[in-house]
Amino acid sequence: MTPPRRRVLILGGTGEGLALGRALADDPRFEITYSVAGRTTAPVLPPTETRTGGFGGVNGLQLYLEGREIDLIVDATHPFAAQMSANAVEAAAETGIPVLALRRPPWTADDGDRWIDVPIMQAAADAIGAESRRVFLTIGQHDLAPFLTAPQHRYVLRSVEPPPEKLRPLDCLVMAERGPFALDGERALLAEHRIDILVTKNSGGDATRPKLIAARERGIPVIMVARPALPPATAEVPDVDAALAWLDAAHGFVLPTDRGV
Ligand code: NAP
Repeated sequence: MTPPRRRVLILGGTGEGLALGRALADDPRFEITYSVAGRTTAPVLPPTETRTGGFGGVNGLQLYLEGREIDLIVDATHPFAAQMSANAVEAAAETGIPVLALRRPPWTADDGDRWIDVPIMQAAADAIGAESRRVFLTIGQHDLAPFLTAPQHRYVLRSVEPPPEKLRPLDCLVMAERGPFALDGERALLAEHRIDILVTKNSGGDATRPKLIAARERGIPVIMVARPALPPATAEVPDVDAALAWLDAAHGFVLPTDRGV
């Protein structure tokens, strides 16, 4: 029996979104559209239909959902992509389409960690202090404005795309790299640049966790920026396997075969 097909919009831009798209690409029960914002010049995309660029706010998203007859939304955006997640929840409420949030759990401090928890990026810049420090900045290419007002520090900035020069702090070495990052490499980076403080968003996940281990080993403080508050989705799951299980249940027709992620 051929199962009915459900149209799924995956809001992507994360490793989890990509893995989910790949896992569902050949699933006869689902027709997948994978959406990215278009911030990076060479995004890694799954072998599904893809689209690039904003929808035009909540109204634009609602029109898209209705026009494309989307049955389910998976919000697999980064935990700091708060606007997109809020828009998804609002448009889902307007249209009655369920939205599953696929959100990796935040990191939590272990013994030996020297974390300074801050609620927003400005507080992170302030927490570095008045004295000049060597700062490893791993917050992406946006949100740099608070650090422009702290020019006393030397920054090593790592992001997928290099930010425009005028948006960088004065003394800033840019490393345009995409994770995952291995522990040995993170140890070497902290040593080579004599980093004495790390600033990061609490993104969670394994791909960028090694920097936290390397910082702990060196006794370096970590300024940890808390996640923004997000409105509740229809359901929330922590990983791709749980998202697949949720989609199985939502579809109601379980395939007899195993599916590798
Ligand atoms: P955001 O502030 O929440 O979103 C701003 C606007 O960008 C949204 O309102 C939407 O425009 C558009 N947008 C965001 N994600 C989209 C998607 N997946 N598909 C289509 N349009 C999208 O988002 P952001 O923090 O700039 O993140 C943008 C993308 O980068 C997301 O895909 C996210 O997963 C990824 N990312 C973000 C971070 C981070 O730290 N923020 C880190 C890694 C990856 P409209 O209102 O016009 O629809």
